[in-house]
Amino acid sequence: MKGKAAVYTKPRTFELTELPVPEVERGGVLVKVTSAGICGSDLHYWRGDIAPSFWAGGAKGGVVLGHETTGVVAAMGKDVARDSVGRPLKEGDRVAYTYFFPCLRCYNCLRGELNTCPNRTRFRRTVESYPYCSGGFAEYFYLPPGHFVFKVPDELPDELATPANCAVTQVIFGLRKAGVSMGDHVVVQGAGGLGINAVAAAKEMGAEKVIAIDSQPNRLKLAEQCGADATIDLREFNTVETRAARVRELTHGRGADIVLELVGFPGAFVEGFRLLRPGGTIVEIGCMWPNSTTQFDVSKLVWTNARVIGIAHYDPYTLPVALDFLVRAKDKYPLDQIMSHSFPLEKIDEAFQQSEWLGKENGTIITRAFLKP
Ligand SMILES: [Zn+2]
Ligand SMILES: [Zn+2]
Repeated sequence: MKGKAAVYTKPRTFELTELPVPEVERGGVLVKVTSAGICGSDLHYWRGDIAPSFWAGGAKGGVVLGHETTGVVAAMGKDVARDSVGRPLKEGDRVAYTYFFPCLRCYNCLRGELNTCPNRTRFRRTVESYPYCSGGFAEYFYLPPGHFVFKVPDELPDELATPANCAVTQVIFGLRKAGVSMGDHVVVQGAGGLGINAVAAAKEMGAEKVIAIDSQPNRLKLAEQCGADATIDLREFNTVETRAARVRELTHGRGADIVLELVGFPGAFVEGFRLLRPGGTIVEIGCMWPNSTTQFDVSKLVWTNARVIGIAHYDPYTLPVALDFLVRAKDKYPLDQIMSHSFPLEKIDEAFQQSEWLGKENGTIITRAFLKP
């Protein structure tokens, strides 16, 4: 059996091909992907910001990108009967799943810090070796034994379920780590897929005021519809000084309790210290590609008594929490509009070109594209 796949071979290049579909082992689950979002990190790969040695150990055949996905159970190991919270699971059920696989056999896993397991991305490999189907821009995605899988509530359409395993869960985990609580003022840098979900999640987690910063009017408008109390348009507030002043104005002269960096520009991380109150917390999620270097005066960290939390991936427990959040939030906020454009897998090049926002000063930038394999 084979399945369609868009293989990333070099910057801005995908090759449409067919890959073998793996035999399902004991404990494994094969998912037929119904929808896969183009995440900001996929754009970094596509632009060539991330060297091949980083993404596939220098593999020749390329990799299947895409990790923000949902699908239905196509086949499962004989011993699998339930999802990771114990609900009955059968073929045909819609599922959300972690796209990284903690080994559960290392010091970090033993300490319950599953998102820090050094072996957790071991299945992201070349398309030439088992299990082949390890990316979302393909017809099938294989969950090896030890995976985490969760039934998607029937109320959630694919537009809401697709970003659950990346954008939604990632920001909820970040906000939990930051300890957001009632009365907090939160600044969200970047109103893309992660940012808009972060706005809604911060409100639902008790934030008093959430301020979103972006340069795209359509994104800022959606951020407002999804709970932002105020927005800062980078085209109007076009210096760090004016943005810092505006944030102080909106936070009783104090600065934010929490700043989430979701842009992926090192400069935005440094700017975060200007937006933060003394003793506040910066959550760094955006700058996930290597060589995100910048100049930074370390005394700022000392004299602001700031706390900085770097976050990659999340505790799998957060994923069912995110699905429940989406069920609660779906009638309150138009979160389904984050997935603004849909393309068949064959149009992956066009989907990436339209998702690219770098260098596009004018015109509408789409919030999130998703592919239908
Ligand atoms: Zn992602
Ligand atoms: Zn581990």
